[in-house]
Amino acid sequence: MLIDIHVHLLPPKRLAGLLKWMHRYYAGHPVPVDVTLDQLIDDYAKLKVDYLFNFAYPIEPQETEGLIAFNAALRSRHPWIIPWGSLHPENPGKAQIVELCIRDHNFLGFKFHPFIQRFDPLDPRMPEAYQALQDLGRPCVFHTGFEEFYGLSLPVSTMEQIVRSFPRLPVVFAHSLFPEFGDAFRMLERYDTVWLEMTNVFGALWDDRYRVTKLEPQKKVLLEGIGAHSDRIMFGSDHPAGMGTLEEIYRTLDDLRFPETVKENLLGETARRFVERFKPGFFSRVPASPRA
Ligand SMILES: [Zn+2]
Repeated sequence: MLIDIHVHLLPPKRLAGLLKWMHRYYAGHPVPVDVTLDQLIDDYAKLKVDYLFNFAYPIEPQETEGLIAFNAALRSRHPWIIPWGSLHPENPGKAQIVELCIRDHNFLGFKFHPFIQRFDPLDPRMPEAYQALQDLGRPCVFHTGFEEFYGLSLPVSTMEQIVRSFPRLPVVFAHSLFPEFGDAFRMLERYDTVWLEMTNVFGALWDDRYRVTKLEPQKKVLLEGIGAHSDRIMFGSDHPAGMGTLEEIYRTLDDLRFPETVKENLLGETARRFVERFKPGFFSRVPASPRA
């Protein structure tokens, strides 16, 4: 099973903004600035991806409601798209927003991007949201890592404090604290509520167009850790803001020649078990993406 666990299918204005931002950093980014939502959905049909996790988080507080409605509508047209909710630190009534997404819209969990959304995960306004997710037994994805790129810092100690404060909250470290993989694997070993995902990690280490230099020692730590823990590690593309076209992103992973079980875990098996844990019976109820 192929599940892309990190995708940004967005309303037209935000989609255009995201692509403009990508092209500002990487002039040769192969996804065109004017790509449409339908073209992106088509990319998934071509690549025979079965399901995807869609992240649409608000940069401004007034976007929250519209993005939740967008994600809900997208899923009703394409049931194989698995939406995740989000909210802005300035939004009042966070527990109600979580309940709306999880109970009413049946989203899987919540995704936060502390750098783009400009907040500290330990911000005293946020525990209401984490608590509501923990009470509903649903997961929370945090962007972690790529601090040099963003010029901001999110120390592993901050993430560890969240994990310890909410001991029943499943937490996914998007990008696995890139490039501090040793810390990421230690968190995985220490807390059974933690999952890792490798979005953009392989591209940033092995794709010359996006490569971050001077990270040779981290490659070894990364590959060993993945070999040991792939049953709790997922992989996503960040499409259309990932490191290459969707096809190229999966080729970068292919080229690393992981053992078959490890590769299957990264490509979808870990995600399948992850979804099944929170939505038992999901895959027997919801058919996979129709293939092109
Ligand atoms: Zn992303």
